[in-house]
Amino acid sequence: MADTLTSFANTQLADIKARHRHRMAQPTMRQAEHHLTRNNKELISFSCNDYLGLTHHPDVKGAAEDAIRQYGTGAGASRLVTGNHPLYEKVEHQLANLKGTEAACIFGSGYLTNSSVIPALMDKQDLILADKYSHACLVDGAQLSGARMIRFPHNNMDACKRLLEKHRAQYRHCLLITEGVFSMDGDIAPLDELSELAHEYDCWLMVDDAHGVGVLGDGAGTHAMFSPYPQIDIHTGTFSKAIGSYGGYVCGSTPVIDYIRNTARSLIYSTALPPSVLASASKALDIIQHDKDYVAKPLAHARYFTNLLGLPDAESAIVPLIMGEEEQALEASRILYDAGFLVSAIRPPTIPPGTARLRFTFSATHRREDITRLANIIIEHGWHV
Ligand SMILES: *Cc1c(COP(=O)(O)O)cnc(C)c1O
Repeated sequence: MADTLTSFANTQLADIKARHRHRMAQPTMRQAEHHLTRNNKELISFSCNDYLGLTHHPDVKGAAEDAIRQYGTGAGASRLVTGNHPLYEKVEHQLANLKGTEAACIFGSGYLTNSSVIPALMDKQDLILADKYSHACLVDGAQLSGARMIRFPHNNMDACKRLLEKHRAQYRHCLLITEGVFSMDGDIAPLDELSELAHEYDCWLMVDDAHGVGVLGDGAGTHAMFSPYPQIDIHTGTFSKAIGSYGGYVCGSTPVIDYIRNTARSLIYSTALPPSVLASASKALDIIQHDKDYVAKPLAHARYFTNLLGLPDAESAIVPLIMGEEEQALEASRILYDAGFLVSAIRPPTIPPGTARLRFTFSATHRREDITRLANIIIEHGWHV
């Protein structure tokens, strides 16, 4: 007889499976940029977030190899003990430079950044207003902080303003949270209007630009699409997407970053990144700073795709095709797989029920003929209308 824990897990799993929400991590090998192998089948991926193909760039790989040879494979301890390799200072300087802030601080991942930075700044006397589509790690951070959190309808500035009007005065500090590029929808936040609201209601504005950096605004990110640049108090992001390795970061003023460095729990109580990861991030940031033509490619490819399908111009390197129910998205993904494309079906709870979708991501390294072939299959099945 199964113990109660095992039978609990079995009951829960049966429910997840009945709703077509069961997920399995499939062994996948990414040999080169957007080429991968799964079940012995070679596929062209439109599901990686490696927007610039930097995970396989010879200079980026070479930087990691050199660092492993010189410094070994691991950091040995947390940053506040012995893990603070000099490369941290170099890369934090590069990040602050890219974002136009005084300072930056690197964390173990984007998830660890957001889930630690918010509780470092906010507590139960405070209010957090977060876009409804904010990433899970922003929501987790807000909940961990103990602050009152209210989520406003996606990109709806009128609703956000009404909430501020109603609640702002009862709290000490207020943090507005949004993403630069929304990870499942590919649209961008009205950062200009949000920064005006933040100013008007005495709030701090935090923008997670995981999918904007290296892709939009000449690589600097979503804020650089606006003129003048909106006032953003806290920028966060990840090395795991366009930057092509692993890690996360926050950028802001020197005192804010120093305070975060002293209070963010995942920085204090978790081991520092391996030096090789910092070395490759540094090289990747160099490429992003200096090769603007290359950085423009993912968006150009996404727009080539939306044009072929007669959809509104892509706003980022992410294009969703909303299918509706889980099974429809899974079936479409299966058809594309048979044709040699990896396009993941995104299902609830990652996105709202009834909006299961195919999510396409575009890389600088994709070839136009492959994008055309992909679009033709979609047109054939009428998934875009
Ligand atoms: C991917 C992602 C993260 C998490 O970053 P990791 O470095 O992968 O942990 C955080 N926020 C957003 C919006 C993301 O898309």
